[in-house]
This record gives sequence, structure tokens and C-alpha cells, in this order.
Amino acid sequence: MHAELGLGAPGKYTFKAVCPGALCSSLLQQGAWIGRRGLRVPKSALLEQGATKTTENKIMIDLHTHSTFSDGTQTPEELVDEAVQLGLTALALTDHDNTAGLPRFLSAAEGKPLRAIPGVELSVNHQPGSMHMLGYFIRHDDPDLNERLIWIRSGRDKRNAAILKNLGNLGMALTHDEVAAMAGEDVIGRPHIAAAMVERGYVSDLREAFNRYLARGKPAYERRSVMDPVEGIRVIRHAGGVPVLAHPFSLQMEGRALRELVKGLADSGLQGIEVYYPGHARNTQDQLLHLARDFDLIATGGSDYHGKTKPDLCLGRGFGSLNVPDDVVDRLENRRS
Ligand SMILES: [Zn+2]
Ligand SMILES: [Zn+2]
Repeated sequence: MHAELGLGAPGKYTFKAVCPGALCSSLLQQGAWIGRRGLRVPKSALLEQGATKTTENKIMIDLHTHSTFSDGTQTPEELVDEAVQLGLTALALTDHDNTAGLPRFLSAAEGKPLRAIPGVELSVNHQPGSMHMLGYFIRHDDPDLNERLIWIRSGRDKRNAAILKNLGNLGMALTHDEVAAMAGEDVIGRPHIAAAMVERGYVSDLREAFNRYLARGKPAYERRSVMDPVEGIRVIRHAGGVPVLAHPFSLQMEGRALRELVKGLADSGLQGIEVYYPGHARNTQDQLLHLARDFDLIATGGSDYHGKTKPDLCLGRGFGSLNVPDDVVDRLENRRS
């Protein structure tokens, strides 16, 4: 059975959000072909890619995005425009450890049919994986929050300098400018140091750079200055925000350990957990929904959009099937401190 493909136009099936290039290439891989009447697509592939019947007027929101104020490629204004074009009704900007893009983001959304939510994504201390804490509806000019963000960002610069010093001691001299050139618009971090090491021929690839020198416990490694999770929750709440645990898979924990951790964070004021995320398998999503229910956390979600660095990932739709319930926004807002 095959269905007509409607890209926003009346048809049997419609994609509310499309990155046409990425969408078409994945549909073709799943058995679509170009016929006389345009692209013909097996129904299974349509559904797999997140198409919905045209009659269902699906509301789409995205609560996790990055702009040029951290490591995204789109300006806050471009994000707003893209969201409006795709028909999103709510969008949160959650740059890493930075709120400086929020005034531009909020004013770009004024007068547009889009609810703009000021957010941030804090890096907090966790081992063995990494923990990110999202904060929604924050007062972006909160002095305490901004003081902590400056501390985190300056800590990152000091850490990069210390790593370069360590590499120099190991006979692998690199300048800050070489690393900055690798980072381009990005916030400079270990991946760019690794890229500069490859460029100089010190290692053959990024993996070797990490495995031999840059990973935790290796000779050029340096710790980051980051807050503890509970401190992160406190800082977000103090700024009027709603703290949400981002992409829990990055914690590299499961089962009872994950449950204990989430329980502890909920007891410390965590209000939500990111359940709907690109690439989350159905059973991961179900487990996280369970945790949300058990600890009275709001199940949130977003695409973690970074713009052109991940061309297959769409705002709002992730890899095609992301679907964040739109009532999440009101529920989050009700938990503002
Ligand atoms: Zn993150
Ligand atoms: Zn993110």
C-alpha cells in the first residue's frame, strides 16, 4: 500500500516539519520512488518518519535548542523564524551555560504566533557520564545565575589552557589560536583540541586523541569547574526557573541506580525529566515516563537542535518521530518558583 506524500499541502499524509533533503533521502532508503505523480512512499515509511493524517491538526513544540550563543549554528532570530515557518507553537532556547541570547530570542518572538520560553542548559558534575540540567522560565538577568554561568565559562577557558599546557609537557605543542580555528563559532572544548592534535599529526584521529590523552584519567585530562546537580537545581529555582534533567541516557546509568539518582534529585527540587528526545527508543521513553510518574516529574522533551552541525535533525521533529505533548509548557509554567 502506498500513500500520497503531502509536504504541508492537502494530501493523505502530511509532515508538519520537514527538512526536505534529509526527509527525502531517508524515505528513498525506505522504499519510496519517484513516480509520474511525484514521490511515492510506502505507508510504513511515512509513519516511521512521523507523518500524520492531514485531518489531524498536530500541534508541535520544541523545548531544547541551541543558538550561536553556545554551539548552535543559528542565531536566536533564525531559530524563531524557522520555528514559525514549521508551525511550532512553543520554542525554548536552552544554550549551554549561557543566557546572553535570550533577550534577542524573546524580542524576535514578539508579535509572532510562537510562545518563546527563556531557558538554559547547565553542565553539572556527574560521573561516569555527563549530566545536563535544563532550566525553563528563568529570569535571564538573575545576578546569582549569571555569576555562576560566568564562573562555569571562565572555568572552561582555564581548563582548556591547562589541557594545552599538559599536552605541551607531553611534547605536543598547540596554540590557543590553532584550537580556536577548529572551533569556529563553537564554544572551545576538548573535541576542538583533539581536532587540532589530528591536524598537527600528533594522533591519527579524534578517538586516539581522547583514548590516549584527553579522556578522564589520561595524562592531559583536567577537571571542569562545574556545580553539583543539587546546586544547579538551587540556582535555577532561585532564578525563578523550573529545573529539568536533560537527556538522561548521557548519565550512563540504568535501572535501580538511575532510579535512586532521579529520586534524590526530585527530593532536591527537580521538576521534570526529558523523556521525548531524538533517538530515544520506545522502551527508554517508557522507562523514563515511569520515573516521571513515580516522582511527580513533568515529562518534557525537545530536539536538542544545533542547526547545521546535525543536518538530519529537524527542529520540532528530531529525526522525524519526535512528538512533545504541547501541554508540557503550561505544566512547566505552573511549577515556576
Ligand atoms: Zn545536553
Ligand atoms: Zn542541549
